[in-house]
Amino acid sequence: MISVIIPVYNEEESLEELHERLSGVIKDGEFIFVDDGSTDRTPEILKKLKEKDPRVKVFTFTRNFGQTQALMCGFEHAKGDIIVTLDADLQNPPEEIPKLVEKLNEGYDVVSGWRKNRKDGFLRTLASEIANRIISKISGIPLHDFGCTLKAYRKEIVKSLKLYGEMHRFTPVVAGWMGARIAEVEVGHEKRKYGVSKYGLSRIWKVLLDLFVLAYFNSPRRTPIHIFGTWGILSIVGSLISGIATLWMKIGKGIDMTGNPLLYLTILLAVLGVQFIGTGLLGELMVRTYYESTGKKTYRLKE
Ligand code: UDP
Ligand code: MG
Repeated sequence: MISVIIPVYNEEESLEELHERLSGVIKDGEFIFVDDGSTDRTPEILKKLKEKDPRVKVFTFTRNFGQTQALMCGFEHAKGDIIVTLDADLQNPPEEIPKLVEKLNEGYDVVSGWRKNRKDGFLRTLASEIANRIISKISGIPLHDFGCTLKAYRKEIVKSLKLYGEMHRFTPVVAGWMGARIAEVEVGHEKRKYGVSKYGLSRIWKVLLDLFVLAYFNSPRRTPIHIFGTWGILSIVGSLISGIATLWMKIGKGIDMTGNPLLYLTILLAVLGVQFIGTGLLGELMVRTYYESTGKKTYRLKE
C-alpha cells in the first residue's frame, strides 16, 4: 500500500484537482493531507474530500508550523509500506508517482525527484541550483535537486527520520548518512497555477545554516569534542609555548613581561583553550541527550 503525504498551507484552489488526479493514479493507498494552519477554505474542502473518499485522511494543525512539521506528522501516521510526499499546489504532477515507486522497487530506500526542467522564476531556479550543488558537495549525497518535495521512501526510513525547523529538504542527506540506498529520477514540474509560493529567496541562507547544523550533528563519527577539543589542545599548547617564551625573555634578556605582547597572547590562548574544551564537552552532553531523548540509534542494520 502507498501512503501519499501532502502538506497544505492555504491551497484552496488546487485541492480538488489534486485529489482527482491522485485518485486516477493510486487505487490502493491513503492520501494524508496535513493542513498546516490554513486560513482559507482549505479545511472545508478537505472535509468534503474526506467525506466522499475513505482513502483521504486529514490532520489539522492549530497554527502554521511549517512544511517540515507537516511532513513529520504525515510520516508518523502513514500506514503504507511506501511513502510518497507531494506538494499540494500541483507543481509536482501526481502522474509521476508510479515512476518513483518503480525505481524504489528496483531496490532503493529513497527515490528523490529531480525537477530538471524547472518552472520557477530565473533567480529562484539559479539560487536553488547553487544551493543544491553546495548541499551535494558537503553532504556527499549525489543528488541534483534536494528541494523537490516529490520523493518516495520505504517505510522504515521515514519512521526513523526526526526532523524539525525547515529541514525537510535534507531527508535524503539524513537517510544517506544512515546508509540508505538513494536514487534520483527526473520528474516533470509545473508552474504554480493557483495561490502563491510560501517562501522567498531568504530561505537560501536558512538552508545553508541548516546544512551546517546537520553536518555537525549527524555525521556519525565526528563528535563535538573531536572538533572543539582539537582547537582547545592547540590553543593550550600555543599558550604554553608563548608563556615559556615570555618567561625566557624576562629572565634571559630582561624584557619586561607586562610590556610583552606575548604575555597577552599567552592569556588569550589559555582562555580560548579552556573555552574550546568546554564547548566540546557541552556538545557531547547535547549529543547524548539527543540520542537518549529521541531513542535514535547510532547505527543502522541491514534488513
Ligand atoms: N507548505 C506548508 N507549510 C508552510 C509552507 C508551505 O505546508 O508553512 C506547503 C505548501 O502548501 C505546498 C508545499 O508546502 O504544498 C510547498 O510550498 P510552496 O509551493 O509554497 O513552495 P515552492 O514550490 O514555492 O518551493
Ligand atoms: Mg510550490
